[in-house]
Amino acid sequence: MRDTTETERLCSGCGMCCDGVLFHTVELQTGDQPRKLSALGLKIRKQKGVEFFLQPCSAHREVSGKCSCLIYEDRPARCRAFDCRQLRGVLSGEVTEEVALEKIRAAREKVSQVTVIMGQIAETNPNRSLTHRVANALTLPKGADQTPLHDELKIAMEDLEALLVKDFRV
Ligand code: SF4
Ligand code: SF4
Repeated sequence: MRDTTETERLCSGCGMCCDGVLFHTVELQTGDQPRKLSALGLKIRKQKGVEFFLQPCSAHREVSGKCSCLIYEDRPARCRAFDCRQLRGVLSGEVTEEVALEKIRAAREKVSQVTVIMGQIAETNPNRSLTHRVANALTLPKGADQTPLHDELKIAMEDLEALLVKDFRV
């Protein structure tokens, strides 16, 4: 996300590109400084030569519904470059802030629904992306039967993903 007043107004009430709703991982790019980012608290991993960190990001904070990045000035290149569909729309003047904020509110409400249903089925690792957590909750232990809650979670997650594709993913 770019450094603008629109970003501040939209992103502080959203956080979905940092909290594991939109992404599983963030890959570091040329110019990023893994050591510095590690020192700032990001848990950098390396697999097959690619450095990345998992989401939810350890630098993401949400206090009383207000989101922030603890390392905003030093955030990695991918974070600087990413503007979701709503933010792009507002920055280009094609979408009003009012509409974008309503889309964010609707998406976050869906995330809450998914999280509540998921919590009724299984305890999942809060340090993994929402998609991973839902997949884990939907994985039945050997011999267990699918319940109506499993169907409810599957449908809620499909609804959320469709909404994210339509309104947020780029
Ligand atoms: S998903 Fe969009 S509105 Fe939400 S925090 Fe990321 S860039 Fe901002
Ligand atoms: S470093 Fe900051 S902007 Fe990047 S994912 Fe983490 S909280 Fe979000």
